[in-house]
Amino acid sequence: MHKVQDIYEFIDSFAPFGSALNFDNVGLLVGDMQKEVSSVLLALDLNKAVLKEAIDSEVSLIICHHPIIWEPLRRVEGEGLIGELLRHNISVIAAHTNLDIAPGGVNTCLADVLCLVDKRGLKVELAKPSYTVSVYVPTEHASSLKRAMVAAGAGELGNYGACSFTSGGVGSFVPLAKAAPYVGELGVETSVNETKLEMFCKRRALSSVIAAIKSVHPYEEPAFNVFENHGVNEELSLGVVGDLEESMRADVFLKHVTRSLQIAGCRYFLPDGGVFKRVACCGGSGSNLLEDAVRAGADVFVTGDVGHNVWYEAERYNIGLVDAGHFATENPVISRLKKRLQEQFKAIKCKEAGGNVALERFFAPKEGITV
Ligand SMILES: [Zn+2]
Repeated sequence: MHKVQDIYEFIDSFAPFGSALNFDNVGLLVGDMQKEVSSVLLALDLNKAVLKEAIDSEVSLIICHHPIIWEPLRRVEGEGLIGELLRHNISVIAAHTNLDIAPGGVNTCLADVLCLVDKRGLKVELAKPSYTVSVYVPTEHASSLKRAMVAAGAGELGNYGACSFTSGGVGSFVPLAKAAPYVGELGVETSVNETKLEMFCKRRALSSVIAAIKSVHPYEEPAFNVFENHGVNEELSLGVVGDLEESMRADVFLKHVTRSLQIAGCRYFLPDGGVFKRVACCGGSGSNLLEDAVRAGADVFVTGDVGHNVWYEAERYNIGLVDAGHFATENPVISRLKKRLQEQFKAIKCKEAGGNVALERFFAPKEGITV
């Protein structure tokens, strides 16, 4: 039987929770890592309908995109969302900005649905400093420790792997009364030929690398240091830019967007010219990347939540701008995530929630209204 932890680790393998932006709140937000899982419900948002469906169909885990906890919680009441989840034993994992930026995540899925080719990151940011981990190890164990650290993700630097630096020296220590030393006797100062092994380590790999040190190092108390390394920053790719196979007239492109994202309509600004080939996109609220879209040579930028002033910026830059909605631009990731989980965990029933729909409706007077 699979546990919540197995699913958490699987998502972590392609959209590391440690890569989420600083303001974010991702990972297991409610529940228990050790709980067994037989069915999973997926949704962009954990809304009322999704909660009801989870309770009615007795799922043990909900995976959502938007975190259900932002502010510090001051109380958990039985009737509130968290109380309901706890009472029905439902765990919740949120995969938010870590899923936005992951290959195969929110933005790649949006670009795929829009049929873009030659896809690349729209804005590549140096976002987070990496770490340097240095560990002192008896010299004869240095290579096995290095192998374990590399397997856990240490030593990556751009196009290079297994990067390390070693230096030799003598380590000494006095085992105290309760110690069970690998070498030496209690109360006697012992000296050992040691190697200092230093490796780069990305944030997402740090906990696995430390776990590897603790499991492989022969000492009862391995001595290691972790330094924040501001010289080596991790790259973060926000949004995607790519090309349409064939140039499209603006009106044809708008039809393409609404059809691909299955929406009743969208808001748009058309530049002079009005023929699109290069398309930038960012699921959710991506307006702040408009300038990057211009810089990337995009003819049009597709995103959601476009504010009033952004339309005027688009006019100034003479770039097309399409607001296809926050929900619709992010939602393509849900079916991809479901497929991925189902392939990995065949015994678990993975289902996109029936309530995974945008709450706001689009009113078209000609079509009337369904209440
Ligand atoms: Zn969002």
